Amino acid sequence: MAFRLFNTLSRTVQEFVPVDGAGRNVGLYCCGPTVYDFAHIGNWRTFVFGDLVRRYLEFKGYRVNHVMNITDVDDKIIDRVRETKSPLGEFTARFEAAFFEDLKTLNCRLPHHTPHATGHIPEILALIGKLVERGLAYRTPEGSVYFSIEKYRAGGGQYGQLVKLNFDQMRVGERVANDEYAKEAAADFALWKARTAGDGEVSWPSPWGPGRPGWHIECSAMSMKLLGPSFDLHLGGEDLMFPHHEDEIAQSEGAALQPPGQPFVKYWLHGAHLLVEGKKMSKSLGNFFTLRDLLAKGFTGREIRGLLLRAHYRETFNFTLDGLQDARVSLLRLDDCLSKLREVAAQGSATQQPPGPAAGSEALAALTEQFTAALDEDLNISGAWGAVFEWVREANRRLAENALNGPQAAAALAAWDKVDAVLGVGAPAEIAVPPEINALLEARQAARRAKDFSRADALRGELKAKGWLIEDTPKGARVKRV
Ligand code: AMP
Ligand code: ZN
Repeated sequence: MAFRLFNTLSRTVQEFVPVDGAGRNVGLYCCGPTVYDFAHIGNWRTFVFGDLVRRYLEFKGYRVNHVMNITDVDDKIIDRVRETKSPLGEFTARFEAAFFEDLKTLNCRLPHHTPHATGHIPEILALIGKLVERGLAYRTPEGSVYFSIEKYRAGGGQYGQLVKLNFDQMRVGERVANDEYAKEAAADFALWKARTAGDGEVSWPSPWGPGRPGWHIECSAMSMKLLGPSFDLHLGGEDLMFPHHEDEIAQSEGAALQPPGQPFVKYWLHGAHLLVEGKKMSKSLGNFFTLRDLLAKGFTGREIRGLLLRAHYRETFNFTLDGLQDARVSLLRLDDCLSKLREVAAQGSATQQPPGPAAGSEALAALTEQFTAALDEDLNISGAWGAVFEWVREANRRLAENALNGPQAAAALAAWDKVDAVLGVGAPAEIAVPPEINALLEARQAARRAKDFSRADALRGELKAKGWLIEDTPKGARVKRV
């Protein structure tokens, strides 16, 4: 079935058709972190969304080239470098390492390329040079280079492809030096920023004088280097639509490296923001969480991933600690079902036969179809989770009725594995039962055999206090982690 996505460029849900004529290779660029601090849970919503897009494309059989840049020089970083009096590379390395650790904790697939802005100064200079050569960029007396929106528009370039802009209110020729500004303040933006005293050691030589790149140009230079001048998907949080992505389009299409009629990017995807307890996250409100803050509260990466993957990417998501608790309970339910299915599957061809074809494994194997139908429709994740939990209900019902044999359980698990290649919340490896717990279980069984029920109950209580529940199954008692 066709995969459809909401393209910010057309403001419609469109069928995804790769740029690659063979329909196989897909270029995916996700704007990555600015490594000046630990990434917060809002950033992680967007990065996990990127991981979902990548995994789903792979699930659909595409060969994805996934690029995520590391912004290791920008206004915010330079401020921090100055405050902390540390060399640029030393300062950013710490937060970059933390970012990759967190990426792993959240079970995100590692992008195939993670280029650094500071490692691509020649490519950035070449792109700025091209824009100057084409008359779309100009040098200021202090040695900065700005992109001219007026010249770009006069040459047929369309500025305002992702957001609507009011050009009547725009003051032609005015400049904006900061990388981040509101669309009401749209003006010529910086491609190269002349060195100032505050920049300290952070500067590179250029044909226009020493300085450093603006934020927007780095993504244009690195994405086109690694994915070609016209590629499939570009993704980020909704705040990046303007000015970051709009400026990327202007620079990249302004350089006219694309084959005639081809855009810089075919599909632009933007994830909505995350709020915490209904409010914009801020340190002063005390509702600001890094991933590490949540791990310190005892939550796991998969629980956090599970929660971040709950809402549709274009819906604002309200993150709460109660929601995280619910995500934990849902995953435990899933784990419980999977471990029972594994037990039945491990028995191989079982002796019992399921009652008839209607009760066969078809309903359980249909999981992948329902899951795909949901995600094909602009990544309808609620529909996808609905299919998963319907499957859990059905599997539990059959397990309770003893109506699943080994091969059917194995087929159900195979369907789950396919689905989990996208969700990435996989059940953890079976938790080994410590010998001390097994000994308590044995003692409880012995007490029951001796009809000493009060001792058996006391032992059950002791196990519970240690975090283990006894389950009496037809094959005897076993413990499970609570
Ligand atoms: P930054 O490191 O600030 O450049 O942000 C990295 C990514 O996180 C970008 O794609 C942002 O759009 C995204 N982002 C920032 N804040 C939030 C938020 N509250 N919710 C979701 N995504 C966010
Ligand atoms: Zn970017």
